Amino acid sequence: MNNGTTHLFVPGPTNIPEPVRRAMNVPMQDMRAPDFPELVLPLFADLKRIFRTEKGAVFLFPGSGTGAWEAAISNTLNRGDRVLMSRFGQFSHLWVDMARRLGLEVDCVDVDWGEGVPVDEYRRRLHDDKHRKIKAVFVTHNETATGVTSDVAAVRAALDSADHEALLFVDGVSSIGSIEFRMDDWRVDLAVTGSQKGLMLPAGLGILAVSPKALDAHEQSKMERCYFSFEDMKAATATGYFPYTPPTQLLLGLRASLDLIFVEGLDAVIARHHRLAEGVRRGVNAWGLSLCAKEEKWWSDTVSAIVVPADIDAKQVIAHGYTRYRTSFGAGLSKVAGRVFRIGHLGDLNEVMCLSALAAAEMSLRDAGTRIEAGCGVAAAQEWYRSEINRGTNSPCERAA
Ligand SMILES: *Cc1c(COP(=O)(O)O)cnc(C)c1O
Repeated sequence: MNNGTTHLFVPGPTNIPEPVRRAMNVPMQDMRAPDFPELVLPLFADLKRIFRTEKGAVFLFPGSGTGAWEAAISNTLNRGDRVLMSRFGQFSHLWVDMARRLGLEVDCVDVDWGEGVPVDEYRRRLHDDKHRKIKAVFVTHNETATGVTSDVAAVRAALDSADHEALLFVDGVSSIGSIEFRMDDWRVDLAVTGSQKGLMLPAGLGILAVSPKALDAHEQSKMERCYFSFEDMKAATATGYFPYTPPTQLLLGLRASLDLIFVEGLDAVIARHHRLAEGVRRGVNAWGLSLCAKEEKWWSDTVSAIVVPADIDAKQVIAHGYTRYRTSFGAGLSKVAGRVFRIGHLGDLNEVMCLSALAAAEMSLRDAGTRIEAGCGVAAAQEWYRSEINRGTNSPCERAA
């Protein structure tokens, strides 16, 4: 179809900015060229700024976020190791499943979907772990299925209060680069992300930042690994090359996306995500609907999972959005299938794009039989965005001037 653009409001893959798309549209490159390291080496230095780490080492694997999960586990732990995890949505669920399939002994805390990492329970279990059996503690920073952001710093504080040495693993796939994440300040040991969310690229890169302590644990780890081996990857990338064929277009795209983030400023990117998310939340509130995230402290600035009224099928809302209004929303996954639809608001996005997401959602909701007043969500968001922009400092053009 050529009549205007289609609209993508899923929480990954996200919209790709034009400069990033253009940067990737190049003839195939020589991955062993003498000047290839000039592209590769700065990517590692610049990704450290995204993770906010000076001490950590960055690894870039062809693969997706799930591959990076596996790399994190298989390079630092051993079969039979006890780990502390929690489950409150499809992504935290899948990470638990992977840990078990890789042979870890998972202490899994099940929490209601709509809540996040149970810090008090983590603290209690860490205090009770007198024999220091727990080798790692896992946090899904932003549960993309339910739109819930957890408090990583509080988990670090729980580890410290128990004087516990376990490694801290964080899934930051839908938070890093969009929501405040501070690897060094929070002493995160393994942080994982992917290319197709906040970094505004196609899927295809699994990205990790690894602390010196996790690199020490790597020395003791005997778990099977080959393609995702830290040692092979580290040896090659130290020279600016890869141990196997890298996705060179994605690396060019990453260069362009990092440049965009740094021109806007990482703090400004994070503030923009908050501002945009708040507009969506005001829209949802005006509809009289609620978020899957149960309390304000869990609200995610990258994705809102919206609960539809009991007599409405969220799958229909999503289907209408796609077929009638060429607008994609995220589905409710697993336990919340049919009960929620999700508006992804991360990456290359601005106020008017969010208004169009709300407008399409209103039409789709009404088509599916939801009794909401046409335009009320859009109006609420408009007023929020206007007030924020007119405070001056947030006007994109004035900022650029
Ligand atoms: C998208 C996502 C993943 C999975 O990443 P893939 O790139 O699809 O493998 C993992 N965790 C979270 C929180 C995500 O949002």
